[in-house]
Amino acid sequence: MAQEKFTFQAEVSKLLDIVAHSLYSQKEIFLRELISNASDACDKLRYAALTDPKLTEGDNDFRITLIPDPKAKTLTVADNGTGMNHDDLTGLLGTIARSGTQAFVDQIGKKKDQNKDGDGNKEKNDMALIGQFGVGFYSSFMVAGKVEVLTRKAGEDKAWLWSSDGKGEFTIDAAQRDGRGTDVIVHLNKKDEEYLEPIRIETIVKHHSDHIGIPIVLKEGDAAKETERTLNTASALWTREKKDITAEQYKEFYHHVGHTFDEPWMTLHNKIEGVVAYTNLLFIPSSRPYDLFHPDRKAKAKLYVKRVFITDDCEGLLPPYLRFVQGIVDSEDLPLNISREMFQHNPQLAKIKSGLAKRILSELKKKAEKAPDEYEKFWENFGAVLKEGIYEEPENRERILALARFKSSETDGLITLDDYVKRMKDGQDTIYYFSGDNVDALMESPHLEGFKAKGVEVLLVTDPVDDFWIPSVGEFDGKQFKSATRSGADLSGIKEDGKSKDKKKDKKKDEDKDKGAEAIEPLLAQFKVALGDAVKDVRASSRLTDSAVCLVAEDGDMDIHLEKILKQHGQLNSTELTPRVLEINPGHSLIVGLSERAKKGDGKDKLINDAAHLLLDQARIVEGEPIKDVKAFSRRLSAVMESGLKL
Ligand code: ADP
Ligand code: MG
Repeated sequence: MAQEKFTFQAEVSKLLDIVAHSLYSQKEIFLRELISNASDACDKLRYAALTDPKLTEGDNDFRITLIPDPKAKTLTVADNGTGMNHDDLTGLLGTIARSGTQAFVDQIGKKKDQNKDGDGNKEKNDMALIGQFGVGFYSSFMVAGKVEVLTRKAGEDKAWLWSSDGKGEFTIDAAQRDGRGTDVIVHLNKKDEEYLEPIRIETIVKHHSDHIGIPIVLKEGDAAKETERTLNTASALWTREKKDITAEQYKEFYHHVGHTFDEPWMTLHNKIEGVVAYTNLLFIPSSRPYDLFHPDRKAKAKLYVKRVFITDDCEGLLPPYLRFVQGIVDSEDLPLNISREMFQHNPQLAKIKSGLAKRILSELKKKAEKAPDEYEKFWENFGAVLKEGIYEEPENRERILALARFKSSETDGLITLDDYVKRMKDGQDTIYYFSGDNVDALMESPHLEGFKAKGVEVLLVTDPVDDFWIPSVGEFDGKQFKSATRSGADLSGIKEDGKSKDKKKDKKKDEDKDKGAEAIEPLLAQFKVALGDAVKDVRASSRLTDSAVCLVAEDGDMDIHLEKILKQHGQLNSTELTPRVLEINPGHSLIVGLSERAKKGDGKDKLINDAAHLLLDQARIVEGEPIKDVKAFSRRLSAVMESGLKL
């Protein structure tokens, strides 16, 4: 059969170009990546052999062999794993298979755009990104002018030779190989010949790959005198005693298992001897993975049974709200011979899942108590995800609520719900919250004016999930949650604190307000007629101090921010708006003036009608809502300005 020629998928070419031309300081990671792939290939075959033992017949001992050849200037990474057939080679090594690599290329693309005006830092950025993502197989082109892959898939007769110089094309030839598995033959560049030296290889393996569960063997010498030496400890890391594992080894394992490149923020290594025996070695990352809010929301921990890798796609292992957790769970007590799909309904697995969730939450609690600053970093990264558990998993609701941290209108730091309740004012029986897109905008909003004036604390929440869990929980410690944008958020029963020093003046202010509220009745009536169905009601407000108007939701109606989120996600018809209550501030000079005019007028005053609509539009703008009828808005605005000129 003649040689076949292929071109790489465009993204791969881009990637190869970056990899080959970056003077990456840690080139040695190419070896870690190739060993990692070899180990994955053995894991895959071991699993497949559970149902088809013929696949590993005659060769049951998995191993990875490293063969430096000083004459040929090649370093070969060989494995007896699952191998690849022709389709695998074109699919897996010609395109970007893993979404992580795709994300890497996207990031590079973005950085390139940002650098169009040329700050000269492009190279540096690219390299930092390679460090962040790792690029698997392709990283071998950092040290090689040519890479060959001689491979034969388990259970098949044909072998293939894939070859490329990493410059846009690769070829595939029919070939010969004794037995299944893969040799990756790295033709080292002149300047990278250090990777032929046994000492160098050994150091890299010890440093980056010691955690690999199968032997990594170094083959030295020639046919006349060949020696073999195992370089790693060669037992699965999680089966070792905690005291025998260094922080560095945990970290390398975390990088391998999670395809991540940051430091683990927390490491949980436990052996459980309960009704179901299992070991977990789990990690919480120190930075957000790029796909945290990917719609499929799957947890990623890998499931092993008796050291055999089963799946990294096991929905029943960890709940979706813990999907940021990386690592492995290995159980002695799960059956080896059932299909991956069956695991999801296995009662023992359900026990493991519930045990893991409790352990993770309790470790988080400990950390929050012992190292609050560190905990806040975690919360910034993953709080939005953890909060999903409040409504998804009622059995852990209280635990997660205790872990939740909040920004608030009264402090710069983060507070807990307990803190909030302890700081509630005399006469306050409600936990007020205010949801929106960002804290700065919330702090500027008219809705907070009354709360601020009275020193009543409001939780400021900005994650979309907040609009779901808060209504679903309803209360904490016997206190109702209530949105600051609700009409029922009535502060009159709450006593002022020492904040406002001049009590007399405050009292007078309140009396003025009450008087004002009566005085504006005629104005309210005329506004109601003018606005008709556009509002649910027009009322005097006790929450406003500086602004003239604001929109609030009637109790029982949908929360204003929730409505916005649902619309953004196409869950609600975007042209339909729930009519709101327009609250007006009787103490505001504009309202006082309009009110005087309304009392004297005949109820058909055009200026007051225009003002009603303009003020409603203004309140909508403050909410970040678009103006419904832009033409009418401009006409009224011009009319009002003209009438101002006539005065
Ligand atoms: P990743 O390991 O993250 O999937 P890589 O770029 O390292 O990405 O590898 C791409 C794919 O090529 C792997 O997912 C695997 O399917 C295949 N592959 C690479 N090396 C081997 C190998 N030694 N044996 C079998 N398959 C391999
Ligand atoms: Mg890989």
